Amino acid sequence: MDYDKLKEWLRERNIGVVPKESMRVRGYDVDTYRKLAKQTENVDYDCDFHDGICHGLALGAPGCCMHCASAFGYWQKEGGAIDDDTLRKIAEFFDERTGFLREGAGCIIPRELRSPTCLYIFCSDAKMSGEERLLLYKIQYGANWS
Ligand code: SF4
Ligand code: SF4
Repeated sequence: MDYDKLKEWLRERNIGVVPKESMRVRGYDVDTYRKLAKQTENVDYDCDFHDGICHGLALGAPGCCMHCASAFGYWQKEGGAIDDDTLRKIAEFFDERTGFLREGAGCIIPRELRSPTCLYIFCSDAKMSGEERLLLYKIQYGANWS
């Protein structure tokens, strides 16, 4: 979607767009948050469908990306705001019907641009190391968590 159109779409849903410098994501500045988020590329969430398994769907619940569009990739949970730099980077990928989710391809935005909720939610930690779980806690509970 066009950036300005998306900004208006967000305004109608009470999601503000703020300068990158003033945005805090769970207490982290945006660049620090992105570094943490990028590290999740190495985490095995046990739901990459290589073996055809989405535990949520298998249990009869919707998979966690099903509400991507209405939740705006769960960025709506971050204090009702998103920073302008992230928005510019992800705007073109947003589809009003499917959000950032594409059938057969999954999520089409890079991990460093995904919201915390998209990164710390998991149904199974069977394939995660202790360090990887720690990384997800850091993302979930934020800069003030120790
Ligand atoms: S976290 Fe659970 S519901 Fe979400 S995609 Fe993975 S297995 Fe499916
Ligand atoms: S991981 Fe991607 S597709 Fe899934 S809810 Fe988040 S932004 Fe949407």
